[in-house]
Amino acid sequence: MKRYRNGKIVATIGPSSNSPEIIEKLYLGGVDVFRLNFSHGDHAGHEKVYDIIRSIGHKYHSFPTILADLQGPKLRVGTFENNKIFLEEGDIFRFDLDKTPGDTKRVNLPHPEILEALKVGTVLLLDDGKLRFEVLSCSPEYAEVKVIIGGQLSNRKGVNVPHVMLPIPALTEKDRKDLDFALKIGVDWVALSFVQSVEDVEEARSIIKGRAKVLSKIEKPLAVQSIEPITKVSDGIMVARGDLGVEMNPEEVPMAQRLIINTCHRMGKPVIVATQMLESMITSPSPTRAEVSDVANAVYCGADATMLSAESASGQYPLEAVSMMDKIIEITEKDPSCVRRIEDDAQCPHQTSLDAKCKAAKSAAMYSNASCIVMFSDSFEHVACCARFRPTCPILLGTSSEEVARQSGLLCGVYSFVMKKEFNQDKLGKIATNISVDKKFAKIGDSIVVLNDFDNDSLNILKI
Ligand code: PEP
Repeated sequence: MKRYRNGKIVATIGPSSNSPEIIEKLYLGGVDVFRLNFSHGDHAGHEKVYDIIRSIGHKYHSFPTILADLQGPKLRVGTFENNKIFLEEGDIFRFDLDKTPGDTKRVNLPHPEILEALKVGTVLLLDDGKLRFEVLSCSPEYAEVKVIIGGQLSNRKGVNVPHVMLPIPALTEKDRKDLDFALKIGVDWVALSFVQSVEDVEEARSIIKGRAKVLSKIEKPLAVQSIEPITKVSDGIMVARGDLGVEMNPEEVPMAQRLIINTCHRMGKPVIVATQMLESMITSPSPTRAEVSDVANAVYCGADATMLSAESASGQYPLEAVSMMDKIIEITEKDPSCVRRIEDDAQCPHQTSLDAKCKAAKSAAMYSNASCIVMFSDSFEHVACCARFRPTCPILLGTSSEEVARQSGLLCGVYSFVMKKEFNQDKLGKIATNISVDKKFAKIGDSIVVLNDFDNDSLNILKI
């Protein structure tokens, strides 16, 4: 489906948006990638949503992308006798392996591997960082801590241990079952939560075996420090600012976001900026000025996609949130300084002949004022290489692989159609001109650039 922008929109589906009517409206309103969040819901619910999205794809002869986001090893405390307690600054508290309900002196921490990784001085954050503790003494059975920032602590609140490499697998038992299910129904991308190392990604890859693309969610400072090798072994990256903003000082998150985006540009991998982008639209039909600016800045920095979480999953205004994000991206991309900024960042990492062709296609499109680049390819990596140079016009991808068409929906500026593989250069030229006009990417009289990656290395500029 033709959009009037290159940046993509990822929307999380949940109780506010899981009906066929709303999903269709979300798609028509601008959603390119639908996120199934496996931290919530059950398999039957996700399968229903999956089927609705695929049937919308058939109805509009298009290839919406489906991303399965695995919960990952989210750490939580146990429960309390009275469901909650209140802790004051300076209080001494204890986390232990005793499963009985807690009180104002102690609570269960059902993760022996965390207790083993703690040291005197380690900081523990509870309930999205609202409460802060410092370890005074510890053993494999318990940790005695001092309350640095107090507050209310209730049943099963989340625990973060920033700056400590936790000896926990990236995939829990639940993740393995969810992954198996997601691959069985046929999702296009799988997102891994709380990636800590290259090994975490490689382990998931060894299970996925090429059946879906792998997106690493960067939500730990240690993953930011290893961003280059993690990006190398991933197909894409998400700046998961929710947990990242808990584990890092919030003022350091924008810097991490820019580092991650620039690394992805260099390595030719798509990058999503996620969480709290239009947060106030969960309960309000219009966003704050700061939120609008946040989405625009992600576009200025060259993110492939921006993401809606609760705004589209459980908020009161999912359609308005998508429409707002659509407008922000479209208008920001029209700013000439946006183009310059993105160009500055699209450096060459490998300097291969493919990079040369893709960069040449971008230049040819720019100097001939082309309406689009029509790229014929069956390789996701090659299309991603073209997209990383951020041509100002869209890339219309002709591929014989439905899988590649759907996976490419996450790439900045890439819109796909499926065709039979063709090697004849003249025929490809005709297909490119016809399809670009039919799909309204070009008008009679426009220039288009054709990049043929099906067979021999060729690059043509055509005038329609
Ligand atoms: C995040 O933490 O920003 C994020 C996207 O992860 P989740 O919503 O799964 O917690």
